[in-house]
Amino acid sequence: MRAEYPNRLRYGLAFCLCLFTSILSAAEVNVYSARKEGLIKPLLLQFEANTGTKVNLITGNADTLLQRLISEGKNSPADVLITTDVGRLYRAQKAKVLQTIHSETLENSIPEQYRDPQGYWFGLSLRTRPIVYAVDRVTPEQLSTYEALGNPEWKQKICIRSSDNIYNQSLVASLIAHLDEEKTLAWASALVKNFARPPQGGDRDQIKAVAAGQCDIAVVNNYYLGIMLASKDKTEQKAANQVRIFWPNQNDRGVHVNISGGAVTASSKNKDSAIALLEFLASDTAQQWYAETNLEYPIKPGVQPSEILKSWGEFKADTLSLYRLGELNAQAVMIMDHAKWK
Ligand code: FE
Repeated sequence: MRAEYPNRLRYGLAFCLCLFTSILSAAEVNVYSARKEGLIKPLLLQFEANTGTKVNLITGNADTLLQRLISEGKNSPADVLITTDVGRLYRAQKAKVLQTIHSETLENSIPEQYRDPQGYWFGLSLRTRPIVYAVDRVTPEQLSTYEALGNPEWKQKICIRSSDNIYNQSLVASLIAHLDEEKTLAWASALVKNFARPPQGGDRDQIKAVAAGQCDIAVVNNYYLGIMLASKDKTEQKAANQVRIFWPNQNDRGVHVNISGGAVTASSKNKDSAIALLEFLASDTAQQWYAETNLEYPIKPGVQPSEILKSWGEFKADTLSLYRLGELNAQAVMIMDHAKWK
């Protein structure tokens, strides 16, 4: 026979359950992400499943999200900001919308040069910006450094996207850090003279232009080539197979690298959950996922890159502390402007 609860007890039980569920679901974290939904959501769902913390995701253009954080001020619901370039994390830091955090897990997982020295932001994945060349027209022996791309032999042979692209701004900032402003301006001016066409399109378009014979070399983030090689679209795959990666500056500072990264906002009302989320994104599982899904390099030492990335071989990466790229961003933009890099 089924036990019958007196009404009062039944309502009481329901009330308790309700309260219990609301305590359980109280933990939440709000994320503003400049990373596209497909490249972050699966990880956030896994974090939710692991911790019971609800993650609310807003994706958008990095500058729009930053403006939103600034205008919302201390009332912003955001706890975490995620961007795909250190330049934007630095801008957010300067706009005072981030706070410093201390996490041994993050400090132990992420090499020093890929996080802010004060703890304002942390790299979560690593991307290189190597040279790609047409396999039928260029030999690797002809290539050496970014600096050499300014040599007259490359006249009208180089494709690269525009100067308003932050990846290029960060690359130029790294040259300022390693050379100086004057030498970087001379280099940028020479590089512009070697452009095969006015800058247009994204990194994938530069790869396609090399494959189509519009130019012989391009400078692109590694994962764009990786994604094209793994693409189900046969024309993309074919174009990608017509180029090869060259790791520049291997006899000196190494190839230019950048990060996607995250930070806890100054307005965060869920700081512990925000830190826990960043720690999860730096975990082996999440690092492996980035490597496999977006063909980026894991930032955590010891985590293996994907097969495609392994096929490109080992390389020396620039060890410049990435906050310098943020610091030098304004100078980089000015130099590109002076060099008439459109
Ligand atoms: Fe990108």
